[in-house]
Amino acid sequence: MPVRMCVVCRGRFEKAELSRVICGGDGEIRLDKTGKAQCRGAYICGECLGTAQKKRALERVFKRRVEPEVYERIIREAEEN
Ligand SMILES: [Zn+2]
Repeated sequence: MPVRMCVVCRGRFEKAELSRVICGGDGEIRLDKTGKAQCRGAYICGECLGTAQKKRALERVFKRRVEPEVYERIIREAEEN
């Protein structure tokens, strides 16, 4: 199994345990449900989904402002998976 690093806690997890967040071609930051998007991605582990916003994890990765709604949507979509 490939191992990836969570951008929030920097812990290492198997890919299947992580949610992959991408910045789409349209500039939208969202959950990558297919895991196949060919763009920059950030992995977040289940434990860190809830704290990512407080730690501004996606701001650091994508170097831009990330609205609270974006974090909320990512958490919601990750829980649906
Ligand atoms: Zn984590």
